[in-house]
Amino acid sequence: MIPENVKHKFIQIVGTENYDDSNTGRLVYSYDATPQFQSMPDAVVSPRNKHEVVEMVKLCNENKIPIVPRGSGTNLCAGTCPTEGGIVLLFKHMNQILEVDEENLTVTVQPGVITLDMIQTVEAKGLFYPPDPSSMKISTIGGNINENSGGLRGLKYGVTRDYVIALEAVLPNGDIIRTGGKLAKDVAGYDLTRLLVGSEGTLGIITEATLKLIPMPETKKTILALYQDIEAAARSVSKIIANKIIPTTLEFLDQPTLQVVEDFAQIGLPTNVQAVLLIEQDGPEEVVDRDIKKIAEVCTNEEAISVQVAQSEEHAMALMTARRSALSALARLKPTTILEDATVPRSEIANMVNAINQIAEKYEVKICTFGHAGDGNLHPTCLTDSRNHDEIERVEKAFEEIFQKAIQLGGTITGEHGVGVMKAPYLEWKLGEAGIAAMKAIKDSFDPINIMNPGKVFAKDSKKRVVVAK
Ligand SMILES: Cc1cc2nc3c(=O)[nH]c(=O)nc-3n(C[C@H](O)[C@H](O)[C@H](O)COP(=O)(O)OP(=O)(O)OC[C@H]3O[C@@H](n4cnc5c(N)ncnc54)[C@H](O)[C@@H]3O)c2cc1C
Repeated sequence: MIPENVKHKFIQIVGTENYDDSNTGRLVYSYDATPQFQSMPDAVVSPRNKHEVVEMVKLCNENKIPIVPRGSGTNLCAGTCPTEGGIVLLFKHMNQILEVDEENLTVTVQPGVITLDMIQTVEAKGLFYPPDPSSMKISTIGGNINENSGGLRGLKYGVTRDYVIALEAVLPNGDIIRTGGKLAKDVAGYDLTRLLVGSEGTLGIITEATLKLIPMPETKKTILALYQDIEAAARSVSKIIANKIIPTTLEFLDQPTLQVVEDFAQIGLPTNVQAVLLIEQDGPEEVVDRDIKKIAEVCTNEEAISVQVAQSEEHAMALMTARRSALSALARLKPTTILEDATVPRSEIANMVNAINQIAEKYEVKICTFGHAGDGNLHPTCLTDSRNHDEIERVEKAFEEIFQKAIQLGGTITGEHGVGVMKAPYLEWKLGEAGIAAMKAIKDSFDPINIMNPGKVFAKDSKKRVVVAK
C-alpha cells in the first residue's frame, strides 16, 4: 500500500488522471504476456515527461517504493509482473518520434513509441530499422531496448543492441544521464549504452533513445523449402552459411507449428511435411538473385523435397506474416502457452531440435518448435493448462532439461526474451556464481536500495542443475 501522504505527492507530480490505484486499474497491470506470475501493483502511474519521471523516482527512492517500468507488457519472462508490488510506470504519454535525422541516419524517440510506427515512419523516408520482433505491432521501443529484442532479420542485421547509439536515462536516485551520441565512434569511458540495453528495467528508466538507421535494401526475395527430415533442414541452415551466404531471415517451423499456423493464417502452407525453412535475402538485385539460386541449390542437395521462390511480394509478405503469427496461433489451442527461447550455436540446431522432441516425449508434454534457425534461437512452445498441476510439474521439468541441454551444447537459456522472473532461477547455470556476483555488483552500484524492477534477473534461490545425459 502506498501511504496517503505519498499518494498525494504522486498526484501532485502527474495529475489525478495519471495516477490509478483502483482495483480494476491495478488488475489490468498485474500481468504481462507470461503465464503464472500475476501479482498486483499498488498503483499505476503515467508520467507526461522526463521531469515528472525524475520527481517520481526521487519520491520512490525516499519511500523505498518498487518501480516497474512497462511498455506494452508483451515480454515473455514476467519482466513487468509487479511481484514485489510498488508502482507500474507507463509511457503512454511519452510516445513521440522526436526526430528523423537524414544526415546522420538516426531516429530519436521517446520510450513509449510503438516499434512498427517508428519503422513505418523511417521507411517512408527510404530508411531502414532492421530489428523486427514479431510483436512489433504492439511492442514499444523502450521494451525492445530493455529486452534487447531480436526478430526475423537478426541473422544478417543483428538485434536491437546493434542499433541503439544514445540513451537518456533516469537513474534510481533521480539523476539523468545521457550516454553515447549520434556518433559512429565513441570510446569515452565505459559503454553505458550497451550496459543499459537488455537491463530489463533494473538499472534505470529510459526516457529517450537515438537509434541508428541504414538505407533500405533495394530488393528482396523469399524461399520456402520443405523437408521430411528435420536433420536435413538443420543441415541446410549450416550449409547455407558455410557457403558464405548470410540471408536476412532463416526461420524454422516444425510440423505441429506449421499445422497450427496454417489453420490460423490459411495461406496454403504445406502441413504434411516434417519441417520448413523460410528464407529471405535482401540487397542489390543481382546479389539477391545469385544468393537465392545458391540457397535453392543447397536446400535441394540437402534433401529438401520442394523449394519454392515466392512469386510475388504479396506471397512473400503472407509467408512472413504467417511466421510472425506462430505464437499467437499456438496460443489459441490451450489455456496456457509457455514459450521458451533456448539458443545454441547454429551448428547444434539439429541436436537441439532432436533433444527437445525426446524431452517432450519423456515428460509426456506437447511441445511445438519454431524459431530463428539461422541464429540458433529456437522457441520450444508448450501448450498446456496451468490448472493441471501434474502436467505443469512435468512441463517445468521438461523446460529445465531443455535449458540444461542448451547450455551443454554451448548455448544459453535465453536468446532474446530476457531473464525476468521466469528464468532468474536458471541464470547461474549460464553465468556461474562469479558471473552472478559481477552482475549483482553492477546492480547494487546503480540501485543500492533495489527499487528498480526488483525480483527480476536475480533469483532469491537458484535452481539445482539437473543432470542430463550427453
Ligand atoms: C506474440 C509475441 C511475439 C513476440 N515476438 C518476439 C520476437 O520476435 N523477438 C523478441 O525478441 N521478442 C518477442 N516477443 C517478446 C516481447 O514482445 C519483446 O520482449 C518486446 O521487446 C517487449 O516490448 P514491450 O513494449 O511489450 O515491453 P514490456 O514487456 O512492457 O517490458 C519489457 C521490459 O522492458 C522494461 N521497460 C520497458 N520500458 C522501459 C523503459 N522506458 N525504461 C526502462 N525499462 C523499461 C520492463 O520493465 C521490462 O523489463 C514477443 C512477444 C509476443 C507476445
